Amino acid sequence: MTRSTDNLVDGKRHILVADDEFINREMLENILCDEYDVLKAEDGEMAYDLIKQNCNTLSLILLDLMMPKLSGLELLAKLKGDPDIKNIPVIVLTSDQASEVESLRKGAADFIPKPYPEPDVIKARISRSIELAEDRQIISATERDELTGLFTSEYFYRYVEQFDKFHPTADMDAVCFDVNHFHILNERFGMTKVAEILRSLADCLAGIFTFTDSVLCRMADDTFLVYCPHRDDYSRIIEKISSGCEGMSTMIKMRAGVYASCDKKLDVQSRFVRAKIAADKIRNNYSVFVSTFDETLLKEELFSEQLVDEFPKALAEKQFKVFFQPKYDITGDTPVLSSAEALVRWFHPELGMISPGAFIPLFEGNGLIAQLDEYVWRRSAEKIAEWKERFGRSIPVSVNLSRAEMYDPELVNTFEKIVSDTGITTKELYLEITESAYVRDSSQIVDRVSQLREHGFFIEMDDFGSGYSSLNMISELPIDALKLDMKFIRNAFEKHKDTRMISIVIDIAEYLGVPVIAEGVETEEQYLALKKLGCNIIQGYYFSKPLPAEEFEAKLQESFS
Ligand code: C2E
Ligand code: CA
Ligand code: CA
Repeated sequence: MTRSTDNLVDGKRHILVADDEFINREMLENILCDEYDVLKAEDGEMAYDLIKQNCNTLSLILLDLMMPKLSGLELLAKLKGDPDIKNIPVIVLTSDQASEVESLRKGAADFIPKPYPEPDVIKARISRSIELAEDRQIISATERDELTGLFTSEYFYRYVEQFDKFHPTADMDAVCFDVNHFHILNERFGMTKVAEILRSLADCLAGIFTFTDSVLCRMADDTFLVYCPHRDDYSRIIEKISSGCEGMSTMIKMRAGVYASCDKKLDVQSRFVRAKIAADKIRNNYSVFVSTFDETLLKEELFSEQLVDEFPKALAEKQFKVFFQPKYDITGDTPVLSSAEALVRWFHPELGMISPGAFIPLFEGNGLIAQLDEYVWRRSAEKIAEWKERFGRSIPVSVNLSRAEMYDPELVNTFEKIVSDTGITTKELYLEITESAYVRDSSQIVDRVSQLREHGFFIEMDDFGSGYSSLNMISELPIDALKLDMKFIRNAFEKHKDTRMISIVIDIAEYLGVPVIAEGVETEEQYLALKKLGCNIIQGYYFSKPLPAEEFEAKLQESFS
């Protein structure tokens, strides 16, 4: 075992001898000076001052109980109450047997009776006490989290196992507490303040889940695990933490994932994986702070994990297929197929077709979307080129962009390269950017969109009406078309048959001088109403579902003949 060398000064450990009798001090110094550096104090107060000054380097204190100014027992009590000092072992020097017991009870490590025994006995007792204290320090350094003093995860799991042994029938919950948007706290408050916050959160939790029936640890940065008797409601605890951590209640929000009444046949780690899955489920939820695990969550999680694991292979094996949904220009007498939207599908060898709703949000969350989208964009561009060649006509295709991609400084280059590699023009590749992408950090997004537009790309604002961009902002936005959010249309036709909102959006588009695209159009009624309202382009099941390339090509051929 490696031993801490903090307490070594010039290679020797420091010992303090506190005894009011000169002869005793000299005798002990004589015995010890070969192996230790000996400090000496002749009364209790002087001893205390020396200990305070040398608390980081002292390895042991030899303490006479009968001393002027501050008695040995008084000093001992003072030392044990001081967190800087309490771990320095104290050996009591006494001739009184009753005091031996008392001092051991007050925290002394050992005692040496007076008159003194053989020097070797004294030395042996001293080195043993030092060794024990240093070992304990090493153990507690790995057992306890330095910042909060709670268990570290490794020890936590062991204690939980032990707890189960002693309480085999207890109905227990595994709970995972996380701080919402923890990474932002570091940015906002700085590390020191955040450390303070974490300490008070730990104190709060330790106050609620006492060691008599619960086990508690800090798992990672802002993740605390608790193993405690089952309770039905954790929302009160969340409230208590917010109000208990004075001064930060409005800024610090915690969430709890609960694996209730755990199955003790599962190993301890798996129980807390379940609690963590439940906590992660409400990671971005601003109104729900407690989430309870159930098996479907685990299935979803495993499914997501499978998709992520298999992504590289799937991409390499071209399991992703780009479908094309026709868009029809309805401004003339008869609808004309004018362009298409590229929508990706995953043809999984075992699971069959997986729709983008199952993997796009997942890949947006972990960054894989960039690789997938680049593939979709390139496939779309290749198809545009191929169709131009085959049909002698240009059919623009719009591709979807995810929010995170808007921050990629290489984005414009990526598109430029795709366009030049495939031999199409920037005018033929339309880019759908969802309205909500514009809402946050709008200036950065607006800059990026402007850049794309300057290169000739046609920008469609997708899902318009869902992101609540202000009218003020819209007039400033660099866009070439508005694409009405599908829900918007659904509401208008299904609920109140009130199309006024659609008219307003069409007015906005007119004001901006851009066409309006309605997607999700399923019925003739909707189509006719939208046409009447002045909508320019229609996409939806009424005309066609998204189609595999070959079927889309057949439709193209038909429309050109
Ligand atoms: P989105 O961009 O809003 O695409 C429109 C969605 O509506 C598509 O769903 C389309 O199949 C569906 N749709 C079209 N017409 C109708 C209709 O008449 N009725 C109904 N009920 N639905 C209709 P899909 O293909 O499942 O895609 C879902 C979302 O996934 C897309 O929403 C888009 O946000 C995303 N997505 C799809 N492919 C890609 C991609 O290659 N890259 C990225 N970044 N996102 C994609
Ligand atoms: Ca879209
Ligand atoms: Ca859309």
